[in-house]
Amino acid sequence: MNINGKARENRTFDAIVIGSGISGGWAAKELCERGLKTIVLERGRPVKHRKDYPTAGSDPWHLDYRGRIPQDDIDRNPIVARCYAYNDATKHFFVKDEEHPYIQEKRFDWIRGYQEGGKSLIWARQGQRWSRYDFEGPARDGYGIEWPITYDELAPWYSRVETFVGWSGNKDGLDHLPDGEFLPPFDMTCVEKHIKGKVEAAFPGRHVLHGRCAHLTEVKPIHREQDRGQCMARYLCYRGCPYGAYFSSNSSTLPWAEKTGNLTIRTHAVVESIIYNEASGKASGVRVIDAITKEVSEYYAEIIFLNAACLNSNLILLNSRSNRFPNGLGNDNGLLGRYIAFHNYRGSLTATIDGFEDQYYYGRRPTQPIMPSYRNVYSQDSDTDFQGKYLIAFGAARSGWQRGVRSENIGIDLKQEVSEPGSWGVFMMMQGETVPIYDNHVRLSETEKDPWGIPQLITSVDYTANDEKLIQDFLESGAEMIEAAGGKNIIQNDDGRAPGLDIHEIGGARMGKDPATSILNNWNQVHNCKNVFVTDGACMSSVAIQNPSLTFMALTARAANYAADELAKGNL
Ligand SMILES: Cc1cc2nc3c(=O)[nH]c(=O)nc-3n(C[C@H](O)[C@H](O)[C@H](O)COP(=O)(O)OP(=O)(O)OC[C@H]3O[C@@H](n4cnc5c(N)ncnc54)[C@H](O)[C@@H]3O)c2cc1C
Repeated sequence: MNINGKARENRTFDAIVIGSGISGGWAAKELCERGLKTIVLERGRPVKHRKDYPTAGSDPWHLDYRGRIPQDDIDRNPIVARCYAYNDATKHFFVKDEEHPYIQEKRFDWIRGYQEGGKSLIWARQGQRWSRYDFEGPARDGYGIEWPITYDELAPWYSRVETFVGWSGNKDGLDHLPDGEFLPPFDMTCVEKHIKGKVEAAFPGRHVLHGRCAHLTEVKPIHREQDRGQCMARYLCYRGCPYGAYFSSNSSTLPWAEKTGNLTIRTHAVVESIIYNEASGKASGVRVIDAITKEVSEYYAEIIFLNAACLNSNLILLNSRSNRFPNGLGNDNGLLGRYIAFHNYRGSLTATIDGFEDQYYYGRRPTQPIMPSYRNVYSQDSDTDFQGKYLIAFGAARSGWQRGVRSENIGIDLKQEVSEPGSWGVFMMMQGETVPIYDNHVRLSETEKDPWGIPQLITSVDYTANDEKLIQDFLESGAEMIEAAGGKNIIQNDDGRAPGLDIHEIGGARMGKDPATSILNNWNQVHNCKNVFVTDGACMSSVAIQNPSLTFMALTARAANYAADELAKGNL
């Protein structure tokens, strides 16, 4: 549709949302429900629930490479090919390196999903609430600025999100990993239950919990209203779920927003910058480049939600230059793009465990047990030589299914083979908190442009000595726990991966109380341009240990309702 020639009114809305992924979908839902005429500007193509999941029903023999990625694809796209979820059946939902260049001053594996729904189609759906200790920790222990909000302020928004999304988990009653509004959890395997018993007995204060994830283990009326069905534990999630059993923008928030009659989605719309109006002291809209025709147009609104995912939101803010903000929108203190943090996934352990050969389990459960941190939980431990914490995810599975895949047998022989008693393997990985430091940053290239004429992003993000100590601690204490549970053949592994592959990047436009040290206030508003809200990972002042998207959603819902209130009062 060529709307460039149409009147300005046709491009004027109450609200603009940039990006239709996990956080943008929530902004659209909340703003539309509050009666605001909202346009979502999305750089990727349309992806409609069910209709546009081309491989959702494919078996391995329907796929060109049985699900694998051929070498020439890996050679052309070495960055995205490192992502475990990138394969023959999912690759259409991942950005190809060659099409969207950026500059790695330090290696950063930037994994992106440019389509309607963003990475909500390809995320792993795990998530846990932050606790009050996570918000208080960085300032209390001296590795970050003070968060301008508390757990109690966010808790009702966590509840709102979990109820609508459908979040499975067990009520564990821990104040350092608070319970949510849970649907029934996926069960643990017999070996996981065994490890839980042994670890909790041998290490008081350590807890092995059921995984918490955005899957419908039970369909409540609110999910039926979204036309979503129960999870079948097929574990084909990364292709898009035809049941809508896991949460994505495509199956949930966007169709919900559409039903209000207030939503417009424009795809193939690359937001180049936010337009600042010097006279009003507010943003008036955004400048868009059509992804296909490269035609430039503008859209206008009273409020703008920036949800392009952490690094792209930084890019858009840095590229929004005006007389008032020559270094990027809201960047009076020069800190825009700085204090990027991420999750340290480098450490992992594998082991075998005897004594369960005759036991099995049903289905391909889409989650794993977790252990909240047992280091620096309530404050810095006197005997711990690093700052921050780590969460552990682990699983124990029968290796029989792997034998099946590798087997030369087919049909009944294969079935019989995998039905034989088999051995069990244990896998354990860390999700470590990295400390947000000034040096870890992104900035715009002065010389290199992308195919749309937008400056390329330079990534300059690395591990610190603190991260190395954290890895060592995890590898040692993880091995101790597996050993206590009777595990054998324990192998400790540091895979040396680059930052980025965790896909949990945060920061650059962090929230804070003081405009001298932060970009956003306690409502996610740019301090000096109050009608621009940034509610994706860019807003985060620290990363904690939890999978982050649940917190992005809760912050977005909270900010969107605040924005609607303020607009109604004439304050924006
Ligand atoms: C394999 C994988 C596993 C993951 N597992 C988990 C997990 O278990 N738990 C968890 O919490 N998180 C997980 N994540 C991370 C999670 O996907 C992100 O945290 C989440 O999607 C971020 O939401 P967002 O709205 O910020 O960005 P996205 O969902 O990425 O959406 C951003 C949208 O903005 C669009 N956009 C970008 N630039 C522009 C522009 N200039 N103009 C217009 N539109 C633009 C993009 O096309 C995209 O649609 C995982 C990610 C991947 C890929």
